[in-house]
Amino acid sequence: MNEGNTDESYRDTISIVSDEGKRKWIYPKKPKGRFYTARTVISIFLLAFLFGSPFIRIDGHPFMLFNIIKREFILFGLVFTPQDFYIFGLVMIASFVALFLVTAVFGRIFCGWVCPQTIFLEMVFRKIEYFIEGNYKSQMDLNNSPWGIKKFFKKISKYIIFFLISFAIANTFLAYIIGTDELWKIITDPVSQHVSGFISIIIFTGLFYFVFAWFREQACILVCPYGRLQSVLLDKNSIVIAYDFIRGEPRGKFTQKEEKSLGDCIDCKKCVNVCPTGIDIRNGTQLECVNCTACIDACDSVMDKIDLPRGLIRYDSMEGISNKVKFRWTPRIIGYCAVLVVLVSTIGVLLANRSDTDVSILRTPGMLYQNQPDNKVSNLYNLHISNKTFEEKSMKLELDGIEGELKLLGNEIIIKPLEIYEGNFLILIQKEKIKLTNTPVRIKVISDGKVIEDISTTF
Ligand code: SF4
Ligand code: SF4
Repeated sequence: MNEGNTDESYRDTISIVSDEGKRKWIYPKKPKGRFYTARTVISIFLLAFLFGSPFIRIDGHPFMLFNIIKREFILFGLVFTPQDFYIFGLVMIASFVALFLVTAVFGRIFCGWVCPQTIFLEMVFRKIEYFIEGNYKSQMDLNNSPWGIKKFFKKISKYIIFFLISFAIANTFLAYIIGTDELWKIITDPVSQHVSGFISIIIFTGLFYFVFAWFREQACILVCPYGRLQSVLLDKNSIVIAYDFIRGEPRGKFTQKEEKSLGDCIDCKKCVNVCPTGIDIRNGTQLECVNCTACIDACDSVMDKIDLPRGLIRYDSMEGISNKVKFRWTPRIIGYCAVLVVLVSTIGVLLANRSDTDVSILRTPGMLYQNQPDNKVSNLYNLHISNKTFEEKSMKLELDGIEGELKLLGNEIIIKPLEIYEGNFLILIQKEKIKLTNTPVRIKVISDGKVIEDISTTF
């Protein structure tokens, strides 16, 4: 809470719900200022990356792919198979810890600058809305005006463009999952050949259209789990978008301020008018604030006009505003940093030691040894090899450390790119060579004349 504000009634309501319990449509004023420009530049890069990366190819292979159906995952050109899921799991945990750390230090900065929901809503859909329907007051007037040719034309053109962008996002989303080649087939082949793909595109298009044309800020306020965690992730040392109530209060019009009895806030409500979630940041940090910086730009422009220093609303912590403490290494931040260093180092080591293939050899469960001619006994083994490269691999197995014979059951081992080979083989050993119940044996896995794995098992 803003310590300068003792009225906490705003905590009893949500900015997007009216007193009658209905949705209050938010008409934010078009932001303008240095932060908005910086966010626009960053969003152009992020959007270019999002829409472009499914089309990037390295040696003819995708740069990014998350094919859940075929269990193929490519991240920045690196192939991950289901066997690498422990690395994926660690990356996910590290991402969460990094997000908690960033939130503890800089609040919800991710939401304002990087989150796809904010980027698409504020930097794509809202900009189109401003372009077609004008600024917030024109939008309100248009919505309250009776239907006519002008209103019909504006609304229909806006919704057609929204639909087309949603369609483009849905296709891009699908390109990340099935790859651009498969997507191209869905687009160009008759619908009957790709019914499920076509239905997926329609469902995703509808979902994105619903979120960006109608649901909007409710996704951040009511649905997003990260937003709802803010109350436990933030503390008074977190740098958030904050109103300097010490400098600003008591608020009042400029003419009164000249009498020096009031603070710097002239109560123009420009910071409230630009807010895409409809809150008044002067009440203090609130769950609805997505750190979009629009109120900073709005207030800075007011301060420029009345010749007062910028930064009445700025990035700062409660401690920064109350006690002028800029940043403090709290035990929580140190703890997050320590965990993150351990996780990132572990991931680095695992990635550095990651091989192109994963081989696992297991005695076939439930099978006993078999007596064979020439006084030999045999055991059956299961072989599982996954090829994590884009090249076909041919391999052979050799018995090592004991005299005997390794006999592959079936064809030679040839594994297609990104595929898994599953087969069986027998190990045959002379009875007199077997001294223990579990005789240790080693199997060399050879590819391109090189031993790529030396696996220990028992006979
Ligand atoms: S309070 Fe400011 S930063 Fe937060 S959502 Fe509203 S305009 Fe954006
Ligand atoms: S924009 Fe600045 S001066 Fe105007 S109401 Fe908001 S905080 Fe006060």
